[in-house]
Amino acid sequence: MNSVRLYMFQTGWLRQKQVDIRLGASQEELVIPVPWFLVTHPEGNVVIDGGVAVEAARDARGHWGSVADTCWPLMEPDDGCAEQLQRHGLKAEDVRYVLQSHLHLDHTGALGHFPNATHIVQRKEYEYARAPDWFAAGGYIRKDIEKPGTKWLFLEGDSTDDFDLYGDGAIKAIFTPGHSPGHQSFLVTLADTGAILLTIDAAYTMDHWNETALPGIMTSATDVARSVKKLRAIADKTGAMVVTGHDPDLWPSFRKAPQSYE
Ligand SMILES: [Zn+2]
Repeated sequence: MNSVRLYMFQTGWLRQKQVDIRLGASQEELVIPVPWFLVTHPEGNVVIDGGVAVEAARDARGHWGSVADTCWPLMEPDDGCAEQLQRHGLKAEDVRYVLQSHLHLDHTGALGHFPNATHIVQRKEYEYARAPDWFAAGGYIRKDIEKPGTKWLFLEGDSTDDFDLYGDGAIKAIFTPGHSPGHQSFLVTLADTGAILLTIDAAYTMDHWNETALPGIMTSATDVARSVKKLRAIADKTGAMVVTGHDPDLWPSFRKAPQSYE
């Protein structure tokens, strides 16, 4: 495989209630990282998610409304996805794909920033984000998602399992609903490191991965459990390094940009 690299970034941190991370936990606050990823590939650069939108770093309450009462971005405007990529030496025009795991407010920071990119999301997620149930509505910021001129490509649930972006096995999508109806995770395979499984929010933390806790935010507990099972089988088969979605204990152990995995 020809020099594919994975870079790990974050748009700062989020201050949230513990109960939103782990079902039944306390109302006390917890600070969690907000990861996002860049894959450089000979066929074109790929951003995965993009963290919190930079507008929330400038004015969280103005941008998010009442969600800011329970969830607060610890982020500077310089921490935006596009701003960091620019410092990394990448022009906005040079991003070919944006892969969206789902469309919650801490994953939409790339939308509207990369004019040439095709944005890939599950159709179910896009539709749900526009008409969520009452208990899930706070997680979706319509103005982050509905940016004029965005080129979308919709994937269709289980039928797109093992969607292989460049056809070389380097970047695959895995449908993992439960946290949200159209959530997907990503398997990145590199020449030296081998497989890296980005669970994203299918497993926020190792508690979820190890099947000892459910998340506080979800649309189906059954789907959450089955998606973790599905990912665990893939990790077993591939020997993947597992990167959970917002894990304050695990995240510091990974190599961060400008360093990379290759
Ligand atoms: Zn989420």
